[in-house]
Amino acid sequence: MDLELVTIGTELLLGFTVDTNSAFAGGELAAAGVRVTRRTAVADAPEAIRSAVAEALGRTGAVLTTGGLGPTRDDLSKAAIAALFDAPIEFREEIWERLVERFTRIGREPGPSNRSQAEMPRGAVELRNRWGSAPGIWLEGAPGLVVMLPGVPREMRNLLTHEVLPRLAQRGGGQVIRSRTLRTTAIGESILAERMGEIEREIAPLTLAYLPDLGSVDLRLTAWDLPADEADRRLTDALTLLRVRAGDHAFGEGSTDLAEVVLEAARARGATIATAESCTGGLVCGRLTAIPGSSSVVLGGVIAYANELKRTALDVPGSLLEAHGAVSEPVVRAMAEGAARRLGASLTIAVTGLAGPGGGSAEKPVGTTWFATSWNGRTDSVKQILFGERDEVRGRTTQAALYLIWR
Ligand code: AMP
Ligand code: MG
Repeated sequence: MDLELVTIGTELLLGFTVDTNSAFAGGELAAAGVRVTRRTAVADAPEAIRSAVAEALGRTGAVLTTGGLGPTRDDLSKAAIAALFDAPIEFREEIWERLVERFTRIGREPGPSNRSQAEMPRGAVELRNRWGSAPGIWLEGAPGLVVMLPGVPREMRNLLTHEVLPRLAQRGGGQVIRSRTLRTTAIGESILAERMGEIEREIAPLTLAYLPDLGSVDLRLTAWDLPADEADRRLTDALTLLRVRAGDHAFGEGSTDLAEVVLEAARARGATIATAESCTGGLVCGRLTAIPGSSSVVLGGVIAYANELKRTALDVPGSLLEAHGAVSEPVVRAMAEGAARRLGASLTIAVTGLAGPGGGSAEKPVGTTWFATSWNGRTDSVKQILFGERDEVRGRTTQAALYLIWR
């Protein structure tokens, strides 16, 4: 079934609140086989709410709203939507009694403004809210179905999971919308797409999306409106195909972090890792140590930003720095080897580059980065030119460094 989301709240439009409700609902509804075809955010204004819901009903006949069910002025939205169904608002004694009970438990009494929370459009089903005071509302009639949930994310999530999804699943016919993601790195989106060839035709009816981020491209496969077992089987087959074509650029699935993969590989070989970082200022070591359990692999690192520290902490000869500059192959190799000697790790990674925005030249443009790994006495080095602003260059450099360790 198709459904539209309407999130209600002026704070969403002003940018004070990020619309996490839509993101959560989108994911959960898809998993339950409900396709969200459009999202609209509107202000706490009855006419805006009424027209957004009416238009959405006109397109899909099913709408989920969040927000605007508080005990204050926002309550106008309940009336605005009820009017679309010609449903008068009625006070429900049993909701009020539960509300009073809820307040009594914490030694308080509900105020007059809370009375509106016990009001329901005639014919609506109350979705009991055990996580807050405003009940959800399931309203079905000639214009279609409108489900109204409170805006508070915790209440919204719980009501959606426990009250709404089971009801929607009953009419879904047992079909699901399911996605799986293959993560790739160190390859651009367009080259990756070339490698994939005619994949879209081969994996149909599954669809494929390319989702680029700093130094990585996620390949997200989606099965639409299929029985769960068929969706899973097709996704597994397609994922295998993607893996083969992405080759050694594919490092994991779902939300796997490259740093996690690096640590696993190092652990399997009994390796220890140390870093020698200039332009990344510790980001590589930071990514690795962010992973729980990293202490069995990561010894630590040296942030040698100044030339002086490259000399004193990593034994980089001053003559190399003078002759070639800090961003150079001889220096990065000396950094990796110095770190191996001084820090005693079996694998070290060294990084030195120009993150910008200043400091570039024709010979060494901003983004020029030298990497070196030292692994059981053997040193390898490589140059890359990474693009973007300072933050992006540093992010891409960090990802590239992790990839080199993994390779
Ligand atoms: P309401 O139900 O409209 O009174 O919303 C209560 C609170 O929930 C607001 O103050 C917001 O902080 C939060 N909220 C409302 N809508 C959303 C949304 N779409 N995503 C995330 N938080 C929200
Ligand atoms: Mg609100």
